[in-house]
Amino acid sequence: MSEKTIFKKIIDREIPADIVYEDELCLAFKDVQPQAPVHLLIIPKKEIASLAAIEAEDQELLGHLLLVVRKLAEEFELSNGFRTVANTGEEGGQSVDHLHFHLLGKRALQWPPG
Ligand code: AMP
Repeated sequence: MSEKTIFKKIIDREIPADIVYEDELCLAFKDVQPQAPVHLLIIPKKEIASLAAIEAEDQELLGHLLLVVRKLAEEFELSNGFRTVANTGEEGGQSVDHLHFHLLGKRALQWPPG
């Protein structure tokens, strides 16, 4: 078994995080290096490395994660808009090998990303 990712350690409460939402399937917490006034990470409790590793059996879980994104966008009053990002792999800029959706809001975000 490979070493636990930092996000798995957060799920297992081995390291602290500013958790804003939790249910049986997922966890959401504040990004430690926020890139916007609201910057949350939504992660499945199931260990999935990235969007490149999802399988058909994960379909319902993935839909659930996006519903949690919408719920948190409402809770954090992102009615002017928000951005949801899943960096994937080396060229996608992924730094933690546990699937996560970034939820960014409360500022005007530029496009395209760098
Ligand atoms: P990515 O680069 O897309 O894989 O995103 C990983 C994100 O996790 C980055 O935005 C980091 O700032 C964030 N991060 C890393 N370690 C922690 C931590 N212990 N608590 C909260 N966020 C973290």
